Amino acid sequence: MTAKIVDGRALRGALEARVAHEVEQLSREGPVRLIAVSVGSAGASDVYLRNQSRACQRVGIRFRHDRLPESSTQEALTAHLHALAADPRVTGIILQMPLPAHLDARAAQAKLDPRKDIEGVHHANLGKLTRGTAVLAPCTAQAAIHVLESENVPLEGAEAVVVGHSEIVGKPLALLLLDRLATVTVCHIATRDLAAHTRRADVLCVAVGKPDLVRADMIQPGAAVVDIGINVVKTEDGGSRVVGDVSADVAADAGLLTPVPGGVGPVTVGMLLRNTVFAAQLQRGHSSGLTS
Ligand code: NAP
Repeated sequence: MTAKIVDGRALRGALEARVAHEVEQLSREGPVRLIAVSVGSAGASDVYLRNQSRACQRVGIRFRHDRLPESSTQEALTAHLHALAADPRVTGIILQMPLPAHLDARAAQAKLDPRKDIEGVHHANLGKLTRGTAVLAPCTAQAAIHVLESENVPLEGAEAVVVGHSEIVGKPLALLLLDRLATVTVCHIATRDLAAHTRRADVLCVAVGKPDLVRADMIQPGAAVVDIGINVVKTEDGGSRVVGDVSADVAADAGLLTPVPGGVGPVTVGMLLRNTVFAAQLQRGHSSGLTS
């Protein structure tokens, strides 16, 4: 079997078309506005910020980047987040990670307005996730689910294995799979025999950040494999390229595979836009969801 390779950019395109329609309707009452807050020079986030800005532009969401000085205190960051929470013109807020080491990220996330927390990182939204009632859930976890559902991968009763247990990807993804009645196993750094688990998976989601962590001999033939990892590796000619956590030879045996780049990444951007629409609907008292 050769895996169907998921076209994440096409999925993002379809999401953006629906979001753009929704934003047009919402904008009759007032613009939809997304604010990204970063502190200092956080190198890795600049690429994300550019992608977020371009994506917002494509769908009619107004985007602003507030960069606070590297030396900002926790109090200054809190004051900024409170001001955004109180500003009725602000629909959604992204608090860009990483923060400088002297700042407490979790404490800062707790200062977000949960109705504007489009990354679903506030404890109120994470709490709702455990109850299965979250409107705003972490975007990458939602993106993995969106890929599987768009490709009609059966989840009810499926053996689903999530590798990685981070708060932002692995854990929320495990909960979203559980909501869909998959039988979920979560593997992590202390898992004794990773391959014994991954080989049982009908649905395998890998979010670790280690190239070639999952190889062809570690999957069940026909499995749906969602590769969430993003790793920059050196090439022989001295350049670099982006790869996931799953080795390329998995494509020969899997039923479905998300490529890196071009798989879950673009869909995550789509989810960020979708969540911004959901946040606007929540704040304006509309029923939440995309209608087209
Ligand atoms: P993270 O916070 O570093 O979490 C990685 C997880 O993998 C941790 O739970 C870690 O366990 C676990 N782990 C480490 N080594 C392992 C091993 N050998 N076997 C099994 N589990 C292991 O990273 P993250 O934020 O979840 O992101 C994971 C990956 O997804 C990264 O490559 C990131 O760049 C990528 N990502 C992609 C998107 C996207 O849009 N496509 C979005 C977000 C993240 P311990 O904590 O116990 O060490």
